[in-house]
Amino acid sequence: MIKVCKFGGTSMADGTTMLRVRDIVRSDAARRFIVVSAPGKRYSGDNKITDLLYETARDVEKTGHVGEAFEKVCARFCSTVRELGLGFPIEEVLSATREEIEQNKSEDFTASRGEYLAARVTAAMLGAAFVDARDTIKFDENGKLDAEKTYSLLKDALLSHDRAVLAGFYGSMPNGEIRTFSRGGSDISGAIAARAVLADVYENWTDVSGFLACDPRIVPSPAGIRTLSYKELRELSYMGANVLHSESIFPVREANIPIHIKNTFRPEDEGTEIVPPEQYRFGGNVVTGIAGKKNFTVIFLEKSLMNSEVGFAYRALACFMKYGVNFEHIPSGIDTMSFVIDGEELKEGVLDRLVEDIRAAVSPDSIRVFDDVALLAVVGHGMTKSVGTSARLFDAIANAGVNVRMIDQGSSELNIIVGVDNGSYERTVRAVYEEFFKHH
Ligand code: ADP
Ligand code: ASP
Ligand code: MG
Repeated sequence: MIKVCKFGGTSMADGTTMLRVRDIVRSDAARRFIVVSAPGKRYSGDNKITDLLYETARDVEKTGHVGEAFEKVCARFCSTVRELGLGFPIEEVLSATREEIEQNKSEDFTASRGEYLAARVTAAMLGAAFVDARDTIKFDENGKLDAEKTYSLLKDALLSHDRAVLAGFYGSMPNGEIRTFSRGGSDISGAIAARAVLADVYENWTDVSGFLACDPRIVPSPAGIRTLSYKELRELSYMGANVLHSESIFPVREANIPIHIKNTFRPEDEGTEIVPPEQYRFGGNVVTGIAGKKNFTVIFLEKSLMNSEVGFAYRALACFMKYGVNFEHIPSGIDTMSFVIDGEELKEGVLDRLVEDIRAAVSPDSIRVFDDVALLAVVGHGMTKSVGTSARLFDAIANAGVNVRMIDQGSSELNIIVGVDNGSYERTVRAVYEEFFKHH
């Protein structure tokens, strides 16, 4: 039995939380491979080490030298090592790191040092081997994971030890330069490690007892979710439930490895199990969970008989290609089509030019742009099984006094996506949660 355990930022925050990590690892001999994030916040308002390192990268770019942010990073690691009473030479390692950061001048390199340092300290604490992601997680020239090479290198590096610690969040390019995943990417490193050693389970240890039915920052103590399918996980995490990075599913799904989300601070809680299709049992809830994100832009097109106009969508999409803009969804009706775009995709001035090009390309009867749209995804395999889910959903939203800007019922029938004003987002989440989780 092999378990790969990833510990998130709050689990790595200081000596006290790291002792919890040690106890969890030591309580189970199968927990052989440990993947760690950089230390996160100890209390609200505290700094995340990774944020301080991005600040350090800016300091180095401006002045050629690390600044105050890096002093804070050093102070955090020194006090953790002191708290743990380790004989680890942290001062030396930090000054070598400082030099490398100033020489390298690469943002990704600098940002990756939180995980690097955390992994070295964790390895010392556990008396385990340190495995550097630089030597084992490999990207190709385009920055895509070189899966085959990575799995083979990582498997050899990890399996040669009884217990080993891998730094999360980064790997290296063919020329040896460090490259990071997107924020929250240690979850992906953990999934890659689980796939490489063909683990029996990928345990992801965080600060909540698994996936909750909605964001706990919007609804206090929402119901927990015991079991999720890979598909539900993908929908929920992609749509904003950031307990687990949305790309972490791919490596484990290939090998049907279950993911177990657990709470470092309440290890006795059951948490959430994310299971392969053949192990999935429908839990009986119509809706499994609700997730969402703010700041989308919707371009809404209307044209009579657009459905019979060959090449309509093609010409509209060509405009997106021209500006390199990705879109999230294209909900469409008989005479209408909308493009939902993540606000971050739209650089200064691009939206106006895009809209003008679409107007010229497809001559719509009308074209309208809605800014500041929030999307809310209601997800669950149970929705196909019960009649009237959308009626309940839209009644609940209407009763909360919220206007629906857009609807997209994915053809997967696993989710319904609703667009509302950014300002109504939290109210909508609460109303939908009440409808599906409180009364019934
Ligand atoms: P880690 O540092 O362990 O990777 P994250 O901060 O990335 O942890 O993810 C855990 C956080 O995700 C929780 O503290 C919670 O605030 C947030 N969160 C958002 N949506 C959900 C949800 N549906 N269920 C549980 N947690 C959620
Ligand atoms: N430390 C990185 C971040 O803050 C990666 C992670 O925590 O997963 O994004
Ligand atoms: Mg995370």
